[in-house]
Amino acid sequence: MKYDHILIRYGELALKGKNRVAFEKQLLANIRQVLKPIPGLKVKRTFGRIVVELYEVEPTPVMKLLKNIFGIHSFSLAIRVDNELAEMQKAALKAVEDSEGTVRTFKIITRRAYKPFPIDSQTLNHKIGGFVLANTNDITVDVHQPDATIRVEVRETATYITTDAFKGAGGLPAGTSGKMLLMLSGGIDSPVAGYLAMKRGADLEAIHFHSPPYTSERAKEKVIDLVRKLNEFGGQIKLHIVPFTNIQTHIRDEAPSNFQMTIMRRMMMRISAKLAEDRGLLGIATGDSLGQVASQTLHSIHTINEVTNYPVIRPLITMDKLEVIDLAKKIGTYETSILPYEDCCTIFLPSDSKTKPSRKHANKFEQYIEVDHYLNEAIAGIETLDLTNMTEVEKSIEDLF
Ligand code: ATP
Ligand code: MG
Repeated sequence: MKYDHILIRYGELALKGKNRVAFEKQLLANIRQVLKPIPGLKVKRTFGRIVVELYEVEPTPVMKLLKNIFGIHSFSLAIRVDNELAEMQKAALKAVEDSEGTVRTFKIITRRAYKPFPIDSQTLNHKIGGFVLANTNDITVDVHQPDATIRVEVRETATYITTDAFKGAGGLPAGTSGKMLLMLSGGIDSPVAGYLAMKRGADLEAIHFHSPPYTSERAKEKVIDLVRKLNEFGGQIKLHIVPFTNIQTHIRDEAPSNFQMTIMRRMMMRISAKLAEDRGLLGIATGDSLGQVASQTLHSIHTINEVTNYPVIRPLITMDKLEVIDLAKKIGTYETSILPYEDCCTIFLPSDSKTKPSRKHANKFEQYIEVDHYLNEAIAGIETLDLTNMTEVEKSIEDLF
Protein backbone atom coordinates (compact mmCIF):
# COMPACT_ATOMS: atom_id res chain seq x y z
CA MET A 1 0.00 0.00 0.00
CA LYS A 2 1.51 3.32 -1.04
CA TYR A 3 0.79 6.88 -2.04
CA ASP A 4 -0.11 6.36 -5.66
CA HIS A 5 -2.25 9.45 -6.28
CA ILE A 6 -2.12 13.20 -5.79
CA LEU A 7 -5.39 14.88 -4.96
CA ILE A 8 -5.55 18.50 -6.12
CA ARG A 9 -7.92 21.01 -4.54
CA TYR A 10 -8.78 24.21 -6.32
CA GLY A 11 -11.51 26.66 -6.46
CA GLU A 12 -11.82 30.30 -6.09
CA LEU A 13 -15.02 30.20 -4.10
CA ALA A 14 -16.31 33.31 -5.79
CA LEU A 15 -16.37 31.68 -9.21
CA LYS A 16 -19.75 30.61 -10.41
CA GLY A 17 -21.50 29.04 -13.38
CA LYS A 18 -19.76 29.30 -16.73
CA ASN A 19 -16.68 30.88 -15.21
CA ARG A 20 -16.22 27.90 -12.97
CA VAL A 21 -16.46 25.37 -15.78
CA ALA A 22 -13.95 27.38 -17.85
CA PHE A 23 -11.70 27.57 -14.78
CA GLU A 24 -11.75 23.80 -14.24
CA LYS A 25 -11.15 22.94 -17.89
CA GLN A 26 -8.28 25.39 -18.21
CA LEU A 27 -6.69 24.21 -14.97
CA LEU A 28 -6.85 20.60 -16.10
CA ALA A 29 -5.23 21.51 -19.43
CA ASN A 30 -2.51 23.54 -17.70
CA ILE A 31 -1.67 20.75 -15.26
CA ARG A 32 -1.44 18.27 -18.14
CA GLN A 33 0.80 20.68 -20.03
CA VAL A 34 3.16 21.27 -17.10
CA LEU A 35 3.37 17.56 -16.23
CA LYS A 36 3.79 16.43 -19.83
CA PRO A 37 7.58 16.04 -19.61
CA ILE A 38 7.13 13.39 -16.90
CA PRO A 39 5.98 10.25 -18.69
CA GLY A 40 3.68 7.69 -17.12
CA LEU A 41 1.23 9.96 -15.35
CA LYS A 42 -2.49 10.33 -15.86
CA VAL A 43 -4.34 13.50 -14.89
CA LYS A 44 -8.11 13.52 -14.69
CA ARG A 45 -10.96 15.50 -13.26
CA THR A 46 -13.34 13.65 -11.00
CA PHE A 47 -15.88 14.71 -8.43
CA GLY A 48 -14.83 18.37 -8.20
CA ARG A 49 -11.18 17.50 -7.74
CA ILE A 50 -8.29 16.88 -10.05
CA VAL A 51 -6.43 13.64 -9.48
CA VAL A 52 -2.96 12.71 -10.71
CA GLU A 53 -2.48 8.96 -11.01
CA LEU A 54 1.17 8.29 -10.31
CA TYR A 55 1.45 4.60 -11.13
CA GLU A 56 5.19 3.96 -10.74
CA VAL A 57 6.27 7.62 -10.89
CA GLU A 58 8.19 9.12 -7.95
CA PRO A 59 5.95 11.88 -6.45
CA THR A 60 8.56 14.48 -5.40
CA PRO A 61 9.27 16.04 -8.83
CA VAL A 62 5.57 16.00 -9.67
CA MET A 63 4.79 17.92 -6.49
CA LYS A 64 7.55 20.43 -7.25
CA LEU A 65 5.92 21.21 -10.57
CA LEU A 66 2.42 21.40 -9.08
CA LYS A 67 3.57 24.06 -6.63
CA ASN A 68 4.01 26.58 -9.45
CA ILE A 69 0.66 26.12 -11.17
CA PHE A 70 -1.80 28.95 -10.61
CA GLY A 71 -5.33 28.00 -9.67
CA ILE A 72 -4.27 25.16 -7.32
CA HIS A 73 -5.27 25.83 -3.73
CA SER A 74 -3.62 22.81 -2.12
CA PHE A 75 -2.71 19.22 -2.88
CA SER A 76 -2.04 16.02 -0.98
CA LEU A 77 -0.56 12.64 -1.58
CA ALA A 78 -3.33 10.08 -1.48
CA ILE A 79 -3.69 6.35 -1.10
CA ARG A 80 -6.51 4.97 -3.20
CA VAL A 81 -8.26 1.90 -1.90
CA ASP A 82 -11.44 -0.05 -2.64
CA ASN A 83 -14.53 0.91 -0.71
CA GLU A 84 -13.92 -1.59 2.05
CA LEU A 85 -13.45 -0.84 5.69
CA ALA A 86 -10.41 -3.09 6.17
CA GLU A 87 -8.65 -1.36 3.27
CA MET A 88 -9.45 2.08 4.65
CA GLN A 89 -8.12 1.10 8.04
CA LYS A 90 -4.82 -0.16 6.65
CA ALA A 91 -4.38 2.96 4.51
CA ALA A 92 -5.09 5.28 7.46
CA LEU A 93 -2.52 3.45 9.54
CA LYS A 94 0.02 3.86 6.77
CA ALA A 95 -0.82 7.57 6.49
CA VAL A 96 -0.25 8.09 10.23
CA GLU A 97 3.04 6.20 10.06
CA ASP A 98 4.24 8.18 7.03
CA SER A 99 3.06 11.59 8.17
CA GLU A 100 5.68 14.34 8.38
CA GLY A 101 7.34 15.06 11.74
CA THR A 102 6.64 13.25 14.98
CA VAL A 103 3.03 12.25 15.34
CA ARG A 104 1.77 11.88 18.89
CA THR A 105 -1.84 12.71 18.17
CA PHE A 106 -4.12 12.30 15.19
CA LYS A 107 -7.67 12.60 14.09
CA ILE A 108 -9.70 11.02 11.31
CA ILE A 109 -12.07 13.12 9.22
CA THR A 110 -14.27 11.02 6.97
CA ARG A 111 -16.34 12.43 4.15
CA ARG A 112 -18.87 10.04 2.75
CA ALA A 113 -19.45 11.75 -0.60
CA TYR A 114 -20.93 8.48 -1.90
CA LYS A 115 -24.04 8.18 0.24
CA PRO A 116 -25.00 4.57 -0.63
CA PHE A 117 -21.86 3.39 1.21
CA PRO A 118 -23.39 1.52 4.15
CA ILE A 119 -21.31 2.87 7.05
CA ASP A 120 -21.89 6.50 8.04
CA SER A 121 -18.96 8.86 8.49
CA GLN A 122 -19.18 9.03 12.27
CA THR A 123 -18.92 5.25 12.56
CA LEU A 124 -16.11 5.21 10.00
CA ASN A 125 -14.18 7.74 12.09
CA HIS A 126 -14.44 5.45 15.09
CA LYS A 127 -13.65 2.21 13.33
CA ILE A 128 -10.69 3.62 11.41
CA GLY A 129 -9.38 5.58 14.41
CA GLY A 130 -9.75 2.50 16.64
CA PHE A 131 -7.74 0.41 14.19
CA VAL A 132 -4.93 2.97 14.16
CA LEU A 133 -4.89 3.10 17.98
CA ALA A 134 -4.81 -0.67 18.24
CA ASN A 135 -1.84 -0.93 15.88
CA THR A 136 0.41 1.83 17.19
CA ASN A 137 2.10 2.71 20.48
CA ASP A 138 2.00 6.05 22.33
CA ILE A 139 -0.43 7.68 19.92
CA THR A 140 -3.73 9.19 20.96
CA VAL A 141 -6.66 10.88 19.32
CA ASP A 142 -6.92 14.66 19.59
CA VAL A 143 -9.87 16.12 17.74
CA HIS A 144 -8.87 19.73 18.41
CA GLN A 145 -5.17 20.10 17.58
CA PRO A 146 -3.86 16.83 16.19
CA ASP A 147 -0.32 16.46 14.82
CA ALA A 148 -1.76 14.56 11.86
CA THR A 149 -5.17 14.88 10.27
CA ILE A 150 -6.12 11.87 8.18
CA ARG A 151 -8.83 12.55 5.66
CA VAL A 152 -10.88 9.72 4.27
CA GLU A 153 -12.95 10.55 1.19
CA VAL A 154 -15.40 7.86 0.21
CA ARG A 155 -16.31 8.22 -3.47
CA GLU A 156 -18.41 6.06 -5.69
CA THR A 157 -15.56 4.11 -7.26
CA ALA A 158 -12.88 4.35 -4.57
CA THR A 159 -11.79 5.87 -1.29
CA TYR A 160 -8.90 8.31 -1.03
CA ILE A 161 -6.87 8.62 2.15
CA THR A 162 -4.72 11.73 2.52
CA THR A 163 -2.76 13.44 5.22
CA ASP A 164 -0.51 16.54 4.91
CA ALA A 165 -1.80 19.18 2.50
CA PHE A 166 0.74 21.25 0.60
CA LYS A 167 -0.07 24.83 -0.25
CA GLY A 168 -0.54 25.57 -3.94
CA ALA A 169 0.21 28.84 -5.75
CA GLY A 170 -3.38 30.09 -5.52
CA GLY A 171 -4.79 32.58 -8.03
CA LEU A 172 -6.55 31.71 -11.30
CA PRO A 173 -5.38 29.25 -13.98
CA ALA A 174 -3.21 30.78 -16.71
CA GLY A 175 -5.30 31.57 -19.75
CA THR A 176 -8.54 32.47 -17.99
CA SER A 177 -8.11 36.25 -17.97
CA GLY A 178 -7.10 37.33 -21.48
CA LYS A 179 -3.72 38.41 -22.69
CA MET A 180 -1.65 41.48 -21.91
CA LEU A 181 1.75 42.94 -22.75
CA LEU A 182 4.28 43.10 -19.91
CA MET A 183 6.80 45.96 -20.10
CA LEU A 184 9.82 44.03 -18.89
CA SER A 185 13.05 45.76 -17.92
CA GLY A 186 15.92 43.85 -16.35
CA GLY A 187 15.07 45.26 -12.91
CA ILE A 188 13.48 43.78 -9.83
CA ASP A 189 9.96 45.12 -10.23
CA SER A 190 8.63 44.25 -13.64
CA PRO A 191 9.15 40.46 -13.41
CA VAL A 192 7.23 40.50 -10.13
CA ALA A 193 4.47 42.51 -11.81
CA GLY A 194 4.38 39.87 -14.54
CA TYR A 195 4.14 37.09 -11.98
CA LEU A 196 1.21 38.79 -10.25
CA ALA A 197 -0.63 39.36 -13.53
CA MET A 198 -0.10 35.67 -14.35
CA LYS A 199 -1.34 34.74 -10.91
CA ARG A 200 -4.69 36.30 -11.78
CA GLY A 201 -4.91 34.18 -14.90
CA ALA A 202 -3.47 36.58 -17.49
CA ASP A 203 -1.42 35.28 -20.39
CA LEU A 204 1.53 37.50 -21.22
CA GLU A 205 3.74 38.63 -24.02
CA ALA A 206 6.71 40.76 -22.99
CA ILE A 207 8.25 43.88 -24.50
CA HIS A 208 11.77 45.05 -23.77
CA PHE A 209 13.41 48.29 -24.93
CA HIS A 210 16.99 47.81 -25.86
CA SER A 211 19.52 50.53 -26.78
CA PRO A 212 22.62 49.03 -28.34
CA PRO A 213 25.49 49.76 -28.10
CA TYR A 214 24.72 51.55 -24.85
CA THR A 215 22.97 48.50 -23.50
CA SER A 216 24.79 45.22 -24.08
CA GLU A 217 23.89 41.76 -25.29
CA ARG A 218 24.18 40.72 -21.69
CA ALA A 219 21.36 43.03 -20.67
CA LYS A 220 19.27 41.28 -23.31
CA GLU A 221 20.31 37.84 -22.06
CA LYS A 222 19.18 38.86 -18.62
CA VAL A 223 15.70 39.70 -19.84
CA ILE A 224 15.56 36.40 -21.70
CA ASP A 225 16.44 34.62 -18.45
CA LEU A 226 13.68 36.49 -16.64
CA VAL A 227 11.15 35.41 -19.26
CA ARG A 228 12.28 31.81 -18.82
CA LYS A 229 11.75 32.13 -15.08
CA LEU A 230 8.24 33.47 -15.62
CA ASN A 231 7.53 30.65 -18.04
CA GLU A 232 8.11 28.22 -15.19
CA PHE A 233 4.79 29.44 -13.82
CA GLY A 234 2.95 27.99 -16.77
CA GLY A 235 3.57 30.88 -19.16
CA GLN A 236 4.42 30.65 -22.82
CA ILE A 237 5.69 34.19 -23.05
CA LYS A 238 6.95 35.59 -26.33
CA LEU A 239 9.54 38.35 -25.94
CA HIS A 240 9.55 41.39 -28.24
CA ILE A 241 12.79 43.33 -28.27
CA VAL A 242 12.45 46.90 -29.47
CA PRO A 243 15.42 48.89 -30.83
CA PHE A 244 15.28 52.10 -28.82
CA THR A 245 18.62 53.84 -29.47
CA ASN A 246 17.45 56.19 -32.22
CA ILE A 247 14.50 57.39 -30.18
CA GLN A 248 16.67 58.05 -27.18
CA THR A 249 19.29 60.03 -29.07
CA HIS A 250 16.55 62.00 -30.81
CA ILE A 251 14.89 62.85 -27.49
CA ARG A 252 18.25 63.79 -25.99
CA ASP A 253 18.90 66.18 -28.86
CA GLU A 254 15.44 67.74 -29.10
CA ALA A 255 13.75 67.83 -25.68
CA PRO A 256 14.59 69.94 -22.62
CA SER A 257 16.55 67.85 -20.13
CA ASN A 258 13.93 67.87 -17.39
CA PHE A 259 11.28 66.44 -19.76
CA GLN A 260 13.39 63.78 -21.47
CA MET A 261 12.40 61.05 -19.07
CA THR A 262 8.70 61.80 -19.41
CA ILE A 263 8.83 61.90 -23.20
CA MET A 264 10.88 58.73 -23.35
CA ARG A 265 8.29 56.97 -21.19
CA ARG A 266 5.51 58.25 -23.38
CA MET A 267 7.29 56.81 -26.41
CA MET A 268 7.65 53.46 -24.63
CA MET A 269 3.97 53.51 -23.82
CA ARG A 270 2.98 54.40 -27.39
CA ILE A 271 5.10 51.59 -28.82
CA SER A 272 3.72 49.12 -26.28
CA ALA A 273 0.13 50.13 -27.01
CA LYS A 274 0.69 49.85 -30.76
CA LEU A 275 2.25 46.42 -30.41
CA ALA A 276 -0.56 45.33 -28.08
CA GLU A 277 -3.11 46.50 -30.63
CA ASP A 278 -1.33 44.79 -33.54
CA ARG A 279 -1.22 41.53 -31.62
CA GLY A 280 -4.73 41.68 -30.23
CA LEU A 281 -3.64 42.02 -26.60
CA LEU A 282 -6.04 43.82 -24.29
CA GLY A 283 -3.81 45.57 -21.77
CA ILE A 284 -0.32 46.59 -20.69
CA ALA A 285 1.34 45.64 -17.39
CA THR A 286 4.20 47.55 -15.75
CA GLY A 287 6.26 47.35 -12.56
CA ASP A 288 5.40 50.87 -11.41
CA SER A 289 5.08 51.41 -7.66
CA LEU A 290 3.60 54.70 -6.56
CA GLY A 291 6.15 57.36 -5.69
CA GLN A 292 9.17 55.09 -6.02
CA VAL A 293 11.02 57.33 -8.48
CA ALA A 294 10.32 60.51 -10.49
CA SER A 295 8.66 58.53 -13.30
CA GLN A 296 6.26 56.87 -10.86
CA THR A 297 4.69 59.82 -9.09
CA LEU A 298 0.98 60.14 -9.75
CA HIS A 299 1.73 63.28 -11.80
CA SER A 300 4.12 61.31 -13.99
CA ILE A 301 1.81 58.36 -14.36
CA HIS A 302 -1.01 60.72 -15.32
CA THR A 303 1.10 62.35 -18.01
CA ILE A 304 2.62 59.12 -19.34
CA ASN A 305 -0.76 57.40 -19.43
CA GLU A 306 -2.21 60.16 -21.64
CA VAL A 307 -0.84 58.52 -24.80
CA THR A 308 -2.92 55.35 -24.59
CA ASN A 309 -6.47 54.36 -23.84
CA TYR A 310 -5.44 50.75 -23.19
CA PRO A 311 -5.81 49.55 -19.61
CA VAL A 312 -2.43 49.81 -17.91
CA ILE A 313 -2.23 47.28 -15.10
CA ARG A 314 0.23 48.09 -12.30
CA PRO A 315 0.16 45.16 -9.86
CA LEU A 316 2.86 46.68 -7.62
CA ILE A 317 1.33 50.13 -7.37
CA THR A 318 0.69 49.98 -3.61
CA MET A 319 3.59 47.75 -2.61
CA ASP A 320 6.71 48.78 -0.72
CA LYS A 321 10.07 48.00 -2.31
CA LEU A 322 10.84 45.49 0.45
CA GLU A 323 7.62 43.62 -0.20
CA VAL A 324 8.50 43.48 -3.89
CA ILE A 325 12.01 42.22 -3.10
CA ASP A 326 10.59 39.48 -0.87
CA LEU A 327 8.29 38.35 -3.62
CA ALA A 328 11.10 38.49 -6.20
CA LYS A 329 13.14 36.19 -3.97
CA LYS A 330 10.23 33.86 -3.49
CA ILE A 331 9.53 33.46 -7.19
CA GLY A 332 13.22 33.16 -8.06
CA THR A 333 13.70 36.28 -10.23
CA TYR A 334 15.67 38.31 -7.69
CA GLU A 335 19.08 36.77 -8.32
CA THR A 336 18.80 37.47 -12.03
CA SER A 337 17.38 40.96 -11.55
CA ILE A 338 20.25 42.18 -9.40
CA LEU A 339 22.95 41.17 -11.89
CA PRO A 340 24.64 44.38 -13.00
CA TYR A 341 23.41 45.72 -16.30
CA GLU A 342 22.84 48.95 -18.14
CA ASP A 343 19.24 50.08 -18.29
CA CYS A 344 18.14 51.98 -21.37
CA CYS A 345 16.15 54.26 -19.06
CA THR A 346 19.24 55.50 -17.32
CA ILE A 347 21.57 56.12 -20.25
CA PHE A 348 21.81 59.79 -21.30
CA LEU A 349 19.17 60.73 -18.82
CA PRO A 350 19.84 63.94 -16.94
CA SER A 351 19.27 63.94 -13.22
CA ASP A 352 16.90 66.87 -13.21
CA SER A 353 13.76 64.97 -14.29
CA LYS A 354 10.58 66.66 -13.23
CA THR A 355 8.66 64.83 -10.52
CA LYS A 356 5.46 66.62 -11.54
CA PRO A 357 5.53 66.78 -15.34
CA SER A 358 2.26 68.15 -16.75
CA ARG A 359 0.47 66.84 -19.82
CA LYS A 360 0.44 70.34 -21.23
CA HIS A 361 4.20 70.67 -21.19
CA ALA A 362 4.77 67.15 -22.43
CA ASN A 363 2.57 67.86 -25.44
CA LYS A 364 4.30 71.17 -26.08
CA PHE A 365 7.78 69.65 -26.06
CA GLU A 366 6.70 66.70 -28.17
CA GLN A 367 6.04 69.10 -31.03
CA TYR A 368 9.79 68.88 -31.64
CA ILE A 369 9.76 65.08 -31.62
CA GLU A 370 8.96 63.03 -34.69
CA VAL A 371 6.61 60.78 -32.81
CA ASP A 372 5.04 58.85 -35.70
CA HIS A 373 8.26 58.33 -37.58
CA TYR A 374 10.04 56.83 -34.56
CA LEU A 375 7.01 54.86 -33.48
CA ASN A 376 6.80 53.14 -36.85
CA GLU A 377 10.53 52.63 -37.06
CA ALA A 378 10.57 50.96 -33.64
CA ILE A 379 7.67 48.67 -34.46
CA ALA A 380 9.26 47.68 -37.76
CA GLY A 381 12.53 46.84 -36.00
CA ILE A 382 11.07 44.51 -33.37
CA GLU A 383 12.76 41.15 -32.94
CA THR A 384 10.45 38.50 -31.47
CA LEU A 385 11.78 35.51 -29.52
CA ASP A 386 9.77 32.41 -28.73
CA LEU A 387 11.28 30.94 -25.59
CA THR A 388 8.90 28.04 -25.15
CA ASN A 389 11.54 25.68 -26.35
CA MET A 390 10.66 22.14 -25.32
CA THR A 391 14.26 20.95 -25.04
CA GLU A 392 14.91 23.70 -22.53
CA VAL A 393 11.82 22.73 -20.55
CA GLU A 394 12.83 19.10 -20.59
CA LYS A 395 16.28 19.96 -19.36
CA SER A 396 14.93 21.87 -16.40
CA ILE A 397 12.68 18.93 -15.61
CA GLU A 398 15.66 16.57 -15.63
CA ASP A 399 17.28 18.79 -13.04
CA LEU A 400 14.38 18.10 -10.71
CA PHE A 401 15.14 14.41 -10.37
P1 ATP B 1 12.03 47.69 -12.74
O1 ATP B 1 12.57 47.18 -11.43
O2 ATP B 1 10.92 46.84 -13.27
O3 ATP B 1 13.11 47.98 -13.73
P2 ATP B 1 12.12 50.32 -11.81
O4 ATP B 1 11.84 50.43 -10.37
O5 ATP B 1 13.56 50.31 -12.27
O6 ATP B 1 11.36 49.05 -12.38
P3 ATP B 1 11.57 52.23 -13.85
O7 ATP B 1 12.92 52.11 -14.43
O8 ATP B 1 11.02 53.59 -13.58
O9 ATP B 1 11.37 51.52 -12.48
O10 ATP B 1 10.56 51.47 -14.78
C1 ATP B 1 9.18 51.42 -14.48
C2 ATP B 1 8.54 50.38 -15.35
O11 ATP B 1 8.69 50.72 -16.74
C3 ATP B 1 9.22 49.03 -15.22
O12 ATP B 1 8.73 48.31 -14.10
C4 ATP B 1 8.85 48.39 -16.53
O13 ATP B 1 7.51 47.90 -16.49
C5 ATP B 1 8.93 49.57 -17.49
N1 ATP B 1 10.27 49.61 -18.09
C6 ATP B 1 11.33 50.32 -17.67
N2 ATP B 1 12.41 50.10 -18.46
C7 ATP B 1 12.02 49.23 -19.42
C8 ATP B 1 12.67 48.61 -20.54
N3 ATP B 1 13.96 48.83 -20.85
N4 ATP B 1 11.93 47.78 -21.30
C9 ATP B 1 10.63 47.53 -21.01
N5 ATP B 1 9.97 48.08 -19.98
C10 ATP B 1 10.65 48.94 -19.19
MG1 MG C 1 14.44 49.52 -13.84
